[in-house]
Amino acid sequence: MAFTRREFTRLLAGTAAACSIPHLAASRALAQTSTVTETAGGKRVGYCVVGLGRISADHFMPGVRASARSRVTALVSGHPDKARKLAAQYGLPDSSVYTYETYDRIRDNPEVDAVYIGLPNSMHAEYSIRAAEAGKHVLCEKPMSTSVADAREMIAASAKAGKKLMIAYRVQLEPTNLRAIELIRSGALGSVQAIESANGFNISKGEWRLNKKLAGGGPLLDVGIYSLNATRYLTGEEPQHISAYSSVIDHDGRFDEVEENISWTMKFPSGIVASCNSTYGGDMDGYYRVHGSKGVLQLLPAFIYEGEHLTGHLYEGDQHLDEAAKEKDPAHFTRMADHFSTCVIEGKTPRSPGEEGLRDMSWIAEIYKSAGLSL
Ligand code: NAD
Repeated sequence: MAFTRREFTRLLAGTAAACSIPHLAASRALAQTSTVTETAGGKRVGYCVVGLGRISADHFMPGVRASARSRVTALVSGHPDKARKLAAQYGLPDSSVYTYETYDRIRDNPEVDAVYIGLPNSMHAEYSIRAAEAGKHVLCEKPMSTSVADAREMIAASAKAGKKLMIAYRVQLEPTNLRAIELIRSGALGSVQAIESANGFNISKGEWRLNKKLAGGGPLLDVGIYSLNATRYLTGEEPQHISAYSSVIDHDGRFDEVEENISWTMKFPSGIVASCNSTYGGDMDGYYRVHGSKGVLQLLPAFIYEGEHLTGHLYEGDQHLDEAAKEKDPAHFTRMADHFSTCVIEGKTPRSPGEEGLRDMSWIAEIYKSAGLSL
C-alpha cells in the first residue's frame, strides 16, 4: 500500500496536531497540582498498578521496588486474594487496594500520582482515560490501544487533565538498543539499505491474546509491534509504503479470531526497506539486523527483559562489534518507571509519549488493511 503525499500528511497530521497539546498542558498543570511525595530519599512518584498479571506483578512492581524515584502506592484487581497478598508484600494498607468498580476513587488518594496500566489491550483506553479524569498521570503498556480513535481519546483525556501520558516502550530506553541507534546516526554503518526483524512465540490455547475483543488483534499488536517500533527508531523515519500478508497455518481452534502469522514490508522515505515477521505459531527470536553500506549490525535478542546482545562488523578498520547487556530483569522496568517519574517530577516530556503509541497504532491499522484484516 503506497501513501500519497496527502494521505501520508493526513496520517501524521492527526498525530502532530495532538502532539503539541499534552506537553504544554502537562507542564502548566504540573506547576499547579503536583502531588509527588517528598520522602526521606527525595521525591518519589506513587504508582497505582492496574491489573496484577505477569507484567505487573513479576516485572513492573519488582522494578519499582528497586527504583529511586518511584514507589507502588495502590493496586487495582478483580482478585481480592491476589491483591491482598501483593499489598502485604509492598506494605500497602487495605484502603489502597481497589477493584475495577471502585477504581475511580483513586482520585481521593494523594499517595497516587500516576497509574500503570497492565491490563489486556482493549482495556488500556478506558482505564487510562478514567485515570486522567481522576487527575493522575498514566504509564500505559503497549500496545497503546486497540484502535486509532481510542489512542487519540487517551491523548486528549491526558491533555485535558494536564497530566502526562507515556507508553511503556521499555526498549527505547535500553542501552544496547540505544547503542544500535547511535551506530546508525553517527554514520558508522554508512547509509542504511535494509532492515530485517522478527518477534513471535507459540501461544497456548485459552490466552486472552487470542480473543479479538480483548486483544484487538493477533501477534502484530502484541509482539510484532516491537519490530515495527524498532524500524521507526532505527531509521528515525515514518514508513511511506506498506505491504503485508497474514495467514493461519495451524487450524487447531487458536486462530478463529486473530491472525496466526503476519509479515510486512515498509519502504521509508530515504529508500530503506524493512521486512518484518511476527507469529503466534512458533518461536521467533525477537531480533533485528541492519544492513548499511559500511557495516552490518544485529541485536539478538533485541526485545526481551535481559540479555540484549549487539554484534556486527564495521568494514572500515575491520572492526567487530560484540556488546552484551549485563543488567538483569527487572532493570528495564526500574529504568522505565524512573524515566517517567523524572518526567513527572521535572515537568519533562517522556521519551515515548502518547503520540508515539498513536503513530504505531496508525501503522498497525495500515498493515492490517494491506493484509486484508481490520483493527
Ligand atoms: P496477564 O494475562 O498476565 O495479565 C492481565 C491482567 O489483567 C490479569 O491480572 C487479569 O486478571 C487482568 N484482567 C482484568 N480483566 C481481564 C479480562 N477481562 N480478561 C483477562 N484478564 C483481565 O497479561 P500480561 O502478559 O501481564 O499483559 C498485560 C499487558 O501488558 C498487555 O497489554 C501486554 O501487551 C503488555 N505486556 C507488555 C510487556 C512489555 O515487555 N512491555 C510484556 C508483556 C505484556
